[in-house]
Formats: sequence, structure tokens, C-alpha cells
Amino acid sequence: MGNYTATDYRSDVKPVWCPGCGDFGVLNAVYQALARLQLPLEEVAIISGIGCSSRLPGYVKTYGFNSIHGRVLPVAQGVKLARPATTVIAVGGDGDGLSIGGGHLPHIARRNVDLTYIMMDNGIYGMTKGQTSPTTGFDQETKSMPYGIIEAPLNPVKLALSYEATFIARGFSANVEQCVDLIVRGIQHPGFAFIQLLSPCVTFVGREQFDIIRELAVDLPADYDPGSLDQAWQVSNETGKISLGVIYQKQLPTYEQRLQELVQRAQQGGRVAFADLLRQYHVSEPESAQD
Ligand code: SF4
Repeated sequence: MGNYTATDYRSDVKPVWCPGCGDFGVLNAVYQALARLQLPLEEVAIISGIGCSSRLPGYVKTYGFNSIHGRVLPVAQGVKLARPATTVIAVGGDGDGLSIGGGHLPHIARRNVDLTYIMMDNGIYGMTKGQTSPTTGFDQETKSMPYGIIEAPLNPVKLALSYEATFIARGFSANVEQCVDLIVRGIQHPGFAFIQLLSPCVTFVGREQFDIIRELAVDLPADYDPGSLDQAWQVSNETGKISLGVIYQKQLPTYEQRLQELVQRAQQGGRVAFADLLRQYHVSEPESAQD
């Protein structure tokens, strides 16, 4: 194992994000988290969908894959199941993850696949120039809703809690040190880790998005218990402030562990006769198969 520094994870590709974009803080945190865990470059795969934040895999020198819009989680799961020893990190934005990709979150959570999903939430579609996303605030004006949003925003933490994700955290990209800590803990968590990182879009929401989050953000108190589902629900229902930290964590067997057990059970059970399978569906065995 090498003595990696954050710089070792930096690829030669220069980020094309707008100057001041919150995603720079997340990228920096990813470099530092990988270095803190001393993860070899060839043992990490970073998978994304499509969007400004989904460009991130190109800026990291590990394995990476830029998939299609909203499909980051199925692709990341495929990588993890094919290569269980690989540390798999899925990244993307609120639009990618909660609109077209919203149907994948409950299933990856209930399976408890051992990967870390970093959702960079800026409350807007940045890459396509500022349309309403599922987390855009009520009444906010956007390019697609110039007179203001009339729907309630989705709450990513509440969704992850509803889907029974086993690790749920929230951070702010301007606080890189805290993001590093959350990403490290998410990677170390055996199971599905969901991390919402508030990552302002300075171009299509505006620089004031940083100020608004700073004003509302508070760290979870020292006596907060991430093992308490009741406390986690209280945090998810907060209004007027945004609590940052590890909101919920519990240990459950991972999908990979249960899959391994299933394979062993199947191997011990011996081969199932094709005719018996057909009989379960009240279908007769084809004549040719009886010969
Ligand atoms: S459009 Fe917004 S989210 Fe996209 S790079 Fe620029 S500031 Fe970042």
C-alpha cells in the first residue's frame, strides 16, 4: 500500500465547473477522504449519471464511469456485485438522482448494497441552464418556472429514511473538513450510505445560496444519537434550520453477504430439476425434454 496524499487522486483533467461552484468543495473532500483511507487508485470506482456534478469521476484518477442520466445507482450496483472488493462511490446531483433516477433509490437502499452515494444538491438543473429540480424551494423562480415554484420540494433525507437506508448524512460543500469526515464514514459503513452534500450553483441560483445555507446550517449536537430513528425523523422534519452530520446509522447484513449465502444454499441444495420447476407453474414438461 502506498503513502497516498490527496494530490495523488487528482487526474490531469481540469474541472469545467463555473468558478465558485460548490462542487469544487465536494471534489476536494473526495480527494482527501480517499487519502485518509489510503485507498489504492485501482481499488476505487467512481460512477456518475449526467449533470454538472456528474462530471466528477473524470477529475479523479481512480476508475470511473460516466453513465446515462439517472442511472448512476444501477450501474454502481453492477460494479459492486461484479467486483465486491472494490470501493464503489456513486455521485450525482439532485436532478439526476431524484427525478429520472428517483426510482432507483428505494431499491438500492432496501438491498443495502455496500456503496456510498454522494448526492450534490444545488436545487437546480445547472448543466441544462437552470430549470426546476425536485429539490428547488417552494416559490423560487427558475428558468422553467419564472413566476415561482408551486410544488413542495422533495426532502432527500426524509426519502432515505423512508427507504430505510442504513447510513444517512448531510453536509455542506463549503465545510470541506466535515464533508471529508462524512465521506470517510460513509465508505467505512458496511452497506448503503446516502450522503446529501449541499453544493450551491453560483450561476443559476446565485452566490447567495452559500449565504442562505450558512445562515441555516447547524451541526448536530454532541449528544445526538445517530442510532435513534426517532431523532433522525425529527431532524428530517426540521424547518428553519439545516442540521449537518451523520443523521442515521444502523448495521444490517449487506446485499453482497446475503447473495453469498444464497449461492451457498443453492449449491448445497443441489440442482433443481427443470420438470419440478415447470410443475410449480402447472406447465407440462415438453415432450422432447422427456426423452
Ligand atoms: S452551472 Fe451551477 S452547478 Fe453547474 S458548474 Fe456552474 S455553478 Fe456549478
